[in-house]
Amino acid sequence: MKIILFGPPGSGKGTQAELLKEKEGFLHFSTGDFFRQEIAKETSLGKKVQYYLEKGLLVPDEIVIEIVENFLKENYNKKIVFDGYPRTLPQAFSLDQFLLQRNEKINFCFLIELSEEEIIKRLTSRRVCKNCGAIYNLNFKKPKIEGLCDLCNSELIQRDDDKEEVIKERINIYYKDTLPLIDYYEKKNNLYRIKGDLGKDYVYSEIIKKIKNYGNLY
Ligand SMILES: [Zn+2]
Repeated sequence: MKIILFGPPGSGKGTQAELLKEKEGFLHFSTGDFFRQEIAKETSLGKKVQYYLEKGLLVPDEIVIEIVENFLKENYNKKIVFDGYPRTLPQAFSLDQFLLQRNEKINFCFLIELSEEEIIKRLTSRRVCKNCGAIYNLNFKKPKIEGLCDLCNSELIQRDDDKEEVIKERINIYYKDTLPLIDYYEKKNNLYRIKGDLGKDYVYSEIIKKIKNYGNLY
């Protein structure tokens, strides 16, 4: 079973992937996490990735594709949830091709939809600890003492990329990048839309309903 999660910033893709990992034993593949691991291990791949990230450039498709294929080789036939991948059409094509050769496939793509209003509400209420990086949310994960981190008592700040003008720009970029992918998976008939505004428990229950209905292949 392989699934892909799509959703705008603030849709909680990462949270859903973590729930699938904890409760259902999925491997959570996030390109960002993988980049950080490879860099920390100082592998040759890690060095290539670091070169692009340090320059503020996108890591080219062929490198990301290589990373994902290595991961899939090491994890044949396992349950995997992709979070933040694929990001481009060439990545999506090559993922399908690679899986096909191995008699595997993407079983489901879930698109967590969120209104622009809700994205802005969620992201502008995010606060981050200046010291330890712990994340809070003024709507649903408030710190015990206003403005201070529960873990280390340091000041909580709003990141520049959580400010409204920046969020609007991030939403535009997200739609521009993601719409071709949505279209691609929709044509393959394995895209399911979930109303993210209804909250994380609802989103998770919808995902589970679909994958459990898949039958013995699951
Ligand atoms: Zn802290």
